[in-house]
Amino acid sequence: RYKNKWAVNLKKEPNCQLALNNFDAFYRPYYGAEWPSVRISLLSMPKYCAVLNKYGHEEKIESQLGDLTLLNFTEYARYFQQKKIKNNQNGATLELKSESKEVPVVSKNKKLSFNPQMTKVYPDETHLKETAYKADIEVLEPYKEELYKDNLNVFVPTEQVYSEKEQIIKEEMSINAFQPRDIGINIIQPKSVNISRFVDAFVFPKGDISQFPQPRPRYGIHGYYLMDAASVMPVLALDVQPRDNVLDLCAAPGGKTFTILQSLDLESGGSLICNDLSQSRLNRLKNVLSSHFPPDISEQVVITKKNGIEALTPVFDKVLVDVPCNADRHVVTEDDNNLFKISRTHERLSLMEIQKELLLSAIKSCVRGGTIVYSTCTLSPAQNDGVIQAALEELWETSEIEVAVEDLTSLADLFQDVFKFHKQSKYGKVILPNLLNNFGPSYFAKLKRIK
Ligand code: SAM
Repeated sequence: RYKNKWAVNLKKEPNCQLALNNFDAFYRPYYGAEWPSVRISLLSMPKYCAVLNKYGHEEKIESQLGDLTLLNFTEYARYFQQKKIKNNQNGATLELKSESKEVPVVSKNKKLSFNPQMTKVYPDETHLKETAYKADIEVLEPYKEELYKDNLNVFVPTEQVYSEKEQIIKEEMSINAFQPRDIGINIIQPKSVNISRFVDAFVFPKGDISQFPQPRPRYGIHGYYLMDAASVMPVLALDVQPRDNVLDLCAAPGGKTFTILQSLDLESGGSLICNDLSQSRLNRLKNVLSSHFPPDISEQVVITKKNGIEALTPVFDKVLVDVPCNADRHVVTEDDNNLFKISRTHERLSLMEIQKELLLSAIKSCVRGGTIVYSTCTLSPAQNDGVIQAALEELWETSEIEVAVEDLTSLADLFQDVFKFHKQSKYGKVILPNLLNNFGPSYFAKLKRIK
């Protein structure tokens, strides 16, 4: 017999398991009944979307994607928006769901009828939730300090280190337990919602887990880019106009940069600065640019390697700040280089401070009347709404800058058939992974600089 916490020879828990334990403690209380199905989705194969490249070769794209049954989900949202406007004009009530949906697919000439019945052959969500509950072998009670002591202490035998770990546990509790406070943040309603007509993104229908073929270049240019469909949403929320001056503050490896460049017109006055701290990731970004855009476009993108928390001048109309975060999907599936490794605890716990500084820097780089989108790929309430609240509180106390949060409900409503949004977020929108459409997680919040 041995006591777990002194058993030095016990096998160390894998980092992915440490991440899962942490999520069980901090996400379960927040996401409640949704958590089991989100948890099992995080552990399952993700789905991708193909964002079309307007600089790609049409015939090549058609030959690769033309025969697949795909939904152009951005076109689908634009279609609903038109319908909504029309219905509102007629004074009719709006019903977005479960209609016969005819939406354009890859070829501009070809129409494909999207069959909503298709999802019926797959288990419904109640069934999935039940399965997830059953798969949840160990039922962990949230906020139990014992759980943390065991996880962190199982291979740490001495009293001295033990108390150091206890400090970490306390810090973990105080940092991760985000409670929304009413600090008088101004939440404004958008006058209208615009979904850039230059962004066309395709997904396989709900419940279909087919994979896209890797894009093959024609004349050196790839016709589409494969990425998490939930990552398209922050860019759509940014609402890039062709002549905007755009800053992508944490840009590498470049999926969102690619999407921004679909709407931006660098040849008639638009501009884009892509910044990142990591040289290796910037190299990947350069590859994305050179393999998707002709040289006269890619060479106009300015690439900088700066610490994004350094002050910048307020010259940008649109600023995207896609911060480093827990990266939930990565940490529960990849043990190497995992942020939940015990030796990276301090780095992990300092994330929220860095995220807040990056957001403040993004706000300070934006012109009055301009837009800032803050985004993450984590479900952590502290790294999402928590950072928005902390940054705005600090601005309030230390500067004259005034910022309002734009309500994204109308935008999210147009995508409710594709994404599952969490109902309770306060400032931004959270896309929850779910097995029928395993995208996300993604959080995005939109701020308007007023003064
Ligand atoms: N926007 C990217 C995309 O769509 O492909 C993903 C960005 S990733 C979530 C976060 C990025 O922030 C990483 O590439 C990381 O190197 C960068 N980063 C981390 N700390 C930074 C800092 N202080 N300043 C600038 N970039 C930073």
